[in-house]
Amino acid sequence: MNPVLHHDLNNFESILEKAKQQAIVFLNNLENIPTSNKETIDTNRELNQSGLGSLAVLEEFHTRLAPLMVASPGPRYWGFVTGGSTPASIAGDWLASVYDQNTQAVAAQGGNSALIEFETINLLLQLLDLPKSFSGGFVTGATMSNFTCLGVARQWFGKQLGKDFAKNGISEPINIFSATPHSSSIKTLSMLGIGSQNYTSIKAIEGNREAIDIADLEKNIKSLNEKPFILISSAGTVNTADFDDFEAISKLKEKYNFWWHIDAAFGGFAAVSDKYKHLVKGWEGADSITIDCHKWLNVPYESAFYLVKVQHTALQIETFQNSNAPYLGNPLENFNYLNVLPENSRRLRALPVWFSLLAYGKEGFRDIVENNIALALHFGNAIIEDKIFELLAPIRLNNVCFTVKGDHNQEKVSRFLTNLNDTGKVFMTPTFYQGRNGIRASFVNWRTTENDIRIVIAEMKETLKAVYL
Ligand SMILES: *Cc1c(COP(=O)(O)O)cnc(C)c1O
Repeated sequence: MNPVLHHDLNNFESILEKAKQQAIVFLNNLENIPTSNKETIDTNRELNQSGLGSLAVLEEFHTRLAPLMVASPGPRYWGFVTGGSTPASIAGDWLASVYDQNTQAVAAQGGNSALIEFETINLLLQLLDLPKSFSGGFVTGATMSNFTCLGVARQWFGKQLGKDFAKNGISEPINIFSATPHSSSIKTLSMLGIGSQNYTSIKAIEGNREAIDIADLEKNIKSLNEKPFILISSAGTVNTADFDDFEAISKLKEKYNFWWHIDAAFGGFAAVSDKYKHLVKGWEGADSITIDCHKWLNVPYESAFYLVKVQHTALQIETFQNSNAPYLGNPLENFNYLNVLPENSRRLRALPVWFSLLAYGKEGFRDIVENNIALALHFGNAIIEDKIFELLAPIRLNNVCFTVKGDHNQEKVSRFLTNLNDTGKVFMTPTFYQGRNGIRASFVNWRTTENDIRIVIAEMKETLKAVYL
């Protein structure tokens, strides 16, 4: 064995101890670590001939790379939809690396980790109050979950025309309808060879809404003359957290032949609260659902899962099978994850979620969700109080979409946001909504409190003075 490796092998404990110390300094200090950072590094570091050993590398990480890190898992990182990591999820994530299982088949190497993944999906179905008629698996994010679900939808569409697109390629245009698809679904259409422009935009409900206008949807369905289609719907749009009407879509499903996909990346968590679960009423009728765990479940990146109705498992295997001989027997009997999703080798990605669900239970996640929504409302009310800001959309869940009042201020919005983010006290993202420059604040972090709102409001007022006076 190489002597440096040998030395490391004999010093596992001190290496992990030092990594733990590094972690504690970051995690226990998150509130004071800036949410943005202008530090850079020269990325041309030369690879050393002989190894430094892990302890020396930890030291280099500490001095050279750690200072680049921003407090994105912290309580005032409100950009995009950015979750943090709970203690249980970090423990689970670390142990997933330590045990280093390759999660594929139940019978294969690391096989029992597939059972842990089944168990975790089963726990998630209970958390979200969804039926066991869904099967699921873990992927890196909602983008790959949309890819997986829409990949099966593509195969389903071909089947309706008597074609096998997975085998022979796409030989017919695929009809896809959506009102306000997330950009990742559009990217998915490109990755799946469907084409990012090849979908029909359904009208959104009039007024300040991003949800599907059901009458317009039905009009478009009728114009297909009974041809099949794929519907991409939303549980939580990124700008205004709007939800499509799932009960109305369920009714359409009784009349028409289509694949119904829901992108519920963060909005799906409305289901954990009695106060908000009406927003997803009827979603169990979908053929496939996308949900992120690295957002509202507050586990480390990269974690999301797909849910696809068990009745479509054969189509899913046709799409993702890894064997040359097509699989013909009972798909669940010789179940192997590498035949149902994009990756072959994969880590035990379910473990951080398994830890989190057991550690905090239904109540823990209900509290995170309800607390974040209350904070979004609190923040929204606070910023409109002194009439400098206005909301661009009602606060339906955890996202606040707002702007600086007055058309004459529109061109200053971007400078205001840049200056605000430069303070390092808070991070929000720009948006463009209904023809106006706006700002989005998204509340999904388990650590955020009312005190954080106070800190941010004070910073916003200071920043405004500098930009507008
Ligand atoms: C964040 C998000 C995605 C993309 O998720 P990734 O985890 O970044 O791949 C897709 N859809 C919605 C609604 C989202 O909020």
